[in-house]
Amino acid sequence: MIIGGGVNGLCSAYYLSQSGYDIEVIDPGFSAEGTSYGNAGMIVPSHFIPMASPGIISKGLKWMFNASSPFYIKPRLDWRLIQWLWRFNKSCSSRNVERSQELIWKYNELSKQEYAKLAQNENLNFDFHQRGLMMLFKSEKSKAEEIEIAQKANEIGIEAKVLDQSQVQSLNPDVKVDVLGGVYFPEDAHLYSNHFMRDLMDLLTKRGVKLTKDSVIGTKMANDRITALTTKNGKVVLADHFIITAGAWSWKILKMLGIKLLLEDGKGYSITQKSIDIKPTIPAILTDEKVAITPMGDDLRITGTLEISGISTKINHKRVHGFLSAVPKYFPDMKVPDQPAVDEIWTGYRPLSFDGVPYVGRSKSIANLVVATGHGMMGMSLGPATGKLVAQIVNQENTDLDLELMRLGR
Ligand SMILES: Cc1cc2nc3c(=O)[nH]c(=O)nc-3n(C[C@H](O)[C@H](O)[C@H](O)COP(=O)(O)OP(=O)(O)OC[C@H]3O[C@@H](n4cnc5c(N)ncnc54)[C@H](O)[C@@H]3O)c2cc1C
Repeated sequence: MIIGGGVNGLCSAYYLSQSGYDIEVIDPGFSAEGTSYGNAGMIVPSHFIPMASPGIISKGLKWMFNASSPFYIKPRLDWRLIQWLWRFNKSCSSRNVERSQELIWKYNELSKQEYAKLAQNENLNFDFHQRGLMMLFKSEKSKAEEIEIAQKANEIGIEAKVLDQSQVQSLNPDVKVDVLGGVYFPEDAHLYSNHFMRDLMDLLTKRGVKLTKDSVIGTKMANDRITALTTKNGKVVLADHFIITAGAWSWKILKMLGIKLLLEDGKGYSITQKSIDIKPTIPAILTDEKVAITPMGDDLRITGTLEISGISTKINHKRVHGFLSAVPKYFPDMKVPDQPAVDEIWTGYRPLSFDGVPYVGRSKSIANLVVATGHGMMGMSLGPATGKLVAQIVNQENTDLDLELMRLGR
């Protein structure tokens, strides 16, 4: 029984189905509104530095007072948020970066290889390409920061090349680029998230996985095991194994089971422009404004902002305008609506752990429970590797990655 049908839930179903289990995935949505659909679709071995890293707090505080900035925490008297912020603050250290960077890189790399296999072996067409990622900068400050990250990347074995304006331009022949330069990570990839989710659901259905539209509202326990779940539609679901992959909502389900998980939601927005000719060939992050631009098939997706404001579909138009208006500064010929209509704006929630490392593992207190969440800004990237890990945990096999840093009760 898998609770949550985002990328991590569906990928868990895929790898578990290879071991012959009867699987049901339960989710109220399974629709393009979900976080695993409208994201930037970047597969990022380049993102080896966890969000909780030195300097992020001072940067965040500066942004907090700018209404159109890419980062915001809505001040609220919420004990859960206070605890999360406390642990986040403590984790913003070089030690946290040093101990987790190799795991995060290898996790992304494993996942990229699994995406390639999924595209090839299952004949899925989700516009998966390895064309790399450009970290573009317009200011000397961002240039210095990105070059420092590139040097660290090269030190641990990730290829990163510092490019000047003309080199960036020649890699993006279809659009004029106005930047100081960029750092190019050739090993990164990208895909059309909506197409991946659609194709994987079709494949799972053909393999006999049951996808049920419903949500879990209660749990039944006996002898330190979950015996059943109760759902909004009045069903009682029995199973041998329970997997929680409910993204930013996972903490609520775990709370019903008496397990505390520090998890916040990092809300973000995207707009998708259909059939666009003038667009970058290589996905890019506009580093001064933290905006991501991804060519997806014939379309183009622009994503931005991270608001820790509690799950709500309310749109902050100032912030949407803030990130969209950055695009023509880097790509002067691109036409981007700076005030899109409400129905053109997609909203999603990154499940944020306090230290930037996902939570993946078996519960210590409930023997038949496995949790996989907290993938933050790279949950799409880490989906297939997560599914593989979940299957290995359920099957009690050796796991491809060491799970120690990802344990639940940390
Ligand atoms: C703007 C933006 C851009 C992003 N760009 C990227 C990117 O380029 N690359 C990348 O790797 N990641 C990116 N991400 C992050 C990525 O989208 C997420 O980390 C990932 O989608 C999380 O997947 P998930 O399966 O863990 O959770 P989700 O996709 O959120 O799925 C969880 C599911 O659980 C369901 N659920 C909730 N409560 C219940 C319940 N009670 N019962 C049953 N089901 C329930 C929900 O309906 C939901 O469908 C981005 C995110 C945002 C917001």
